[in-house]
Amino acid sequence: MDINPAEITSVLKKEIESYDQSVEVESIGTLISIGDGVARVSGLKDCRMSEMLEFPGDRYGIALNLESDSVGAVVLGDYTTLEEGDTVKATGEIMSVPVGEGMLGRVVNAIGEPIDGKGPINSDTRYPVEGRAPNVLERQPVSEPVQTGIMAVDAMIPIGRGQRELIIGDRQTGKTALCVDTIINQKGKDLICIYVAVGQKMSTVKAVQEVLEKTGAMDYTIIVNAPASESAAMQWLAPFAGTAMGEYFRDRGKHALVIYDDLYKHAMAWREVSLLLRRPPGREAFPGDVFALHSRLLERSAKLADDAHEQNPKQYKAGGGSLTALPIVEIQQGDVTAYIPTNVISITDGQIYLETDLFNAGIRPAVNVGLSVSRVGGSAQIKAMKKVAGQLRLEMAQFRELAAFTQFASDLDAATLAQLTRGERLVEVLKQPQYEPLAVEDQIFIIIAGTQRFLDDIPKDSVKKFEKEFLQYMRDSHPEIGREIVTSGKLSEEAMKGIREALTTFKKTFSA
Ligand code: ATP
Ligand code: MG
Repeated sequence: MDINPAEITSVLKKEIESYDQSVEVESIGTLISIGDGVARVSGLKDCRMSEMLEFPGDRYGIALNLESDSVGAVVLGDYTTLEEGDTVKATGEIMSVPVGEGMLGRVVNAIGEPIDGKGPINSDTRYPVEGRAPNVLERQPVSEPVQTGIMAVDAMIPIGRGQRELIIGDRQTGKTALCVDTIINQKGKDLICIYVAVGQKMSTVKAVQEVLEKTGAMDYTIIVNAPASESAAMQWLAPFAGTAMGEYFRDRGKHALVIYDDLYKHAMAWREVSLLLRRPPGREAFPGDVFALHSRLLERSAKLADDAHEQNPKQYKAGGGSLTALPIVEIQQGDVTAYIPTNVISITDGQIYLETDLFNAGIRPAVNVGLSVSRVGGSAQIKAMKKVAGQLRLEMAQFRELAAFTQFASDLDAATLAQLTRGERLVEVLKQPQYEPLAVEDQIFIIIAGTQRFLDDIPKDSVKKFEKEFLQYMRDSHPEIGREIVTSGKLSEEAMKGIREALTTFKKTFSA
């Protein structure tokens, strides 16, 4: 065969000319070990912190440890079929979840996938799970109430939209019940609720879902469920995912409430992940960054400034939105001084303390009014409630002091006795059965009855009956007073006079 140099040169020239210079760079690594949902990957040179990694079979992970020769990552979902040597792709994106109106009424897992068997979710927007917390200029003080419908809370430990209020108590003290009642009470109140269940039994969450469905509350609620049977990584991620779903509404001038049930289990999940990643343990074997973990999460709750949109149009589509957080923390034997409770107490704007002794004594919700505070919510109370709640707080404080003091005394003077009698009636008033949140005007009526001595001569056992019948009487005979309170938010002198007169008239007909 003849070799024709001219031909070869021309072919080579053509090849070189048509050579496409652009190369596609894809960061691909190899799985070197996998165990307990934690993967070690080599070869991902440009991997960033919290970057989403793609494993074979549509599985994702998050890079958490960036080391000189490898990357430590948690795998989200089933990791048992992954093998050493599998290729792992760095996606170049931070972990995100689907958000939007389409999520309402749905039960999803920690990565936003539906787990309620109701088909795919209609969502075209995604939010990063580790969103940026609004800065000082983008915020404003809380000014609107979150009506929980629980009288003890709304009157004495009020919560404002954008606030973070901790719910703390031993096991089985009604922590979840309080939050579920709050969700139920939001019907027609323009507050979207997100219930994040971390490390709970499947059956417990299912029960919550059923209650919400039955009461029609599921229409404005999203449940993010990472049950105890899920991997620690999913349990760790769930609160962040739920927060991202709330941020979507916050950033559009709407109002959302996110409940973390509970952050102690969340801290335990993070401890598990951290230990598997071989990070050093600290106090109570929790990793050193567990405080940062919870502050990062809770700082994203905020009441946004009215001009947040002008300040940062890329993130905020409108101003004035809010995200309220109700983290729950379970404690042991009433010990609030353990590591996780003290951390979360210091991050939040107050706490509602639920007590086993009160719960067992039949005082439910078992709110210990003396140890509960709300550091900012008072400014969010409607004026009418503010007007009557001060007296209630005072009476309750005096009652607590007297009750402790007179436990062993036998001969009490008339004034002390009267104070004790009223206190006992007020304790009755503040009891509330589950799933029966009270409207704010009803709460005001009944607080007036209690603090203005209309209940003093009603037998203790009949207080609840009195309350129920009186509220019905107000609805039937004086609906205008309730309406006025709701529309104006105020309690005028005439309204107060009207309520007192109604109480006097009603009392004549009431038989205990
Ligand atoms: P856990 O620690 O197991 O999560 P929890 O503190 O969340 O418990 P719940 O599950 O809310 O407590 O309530 C415990 C029990 O008390 C439930 O059976 C619930 O029905 C009951 N309960 C809660 N609140 C009330 C109430 N206001 N009136 C009557 N029963 C209530
Ligand atoms: Mg619970």
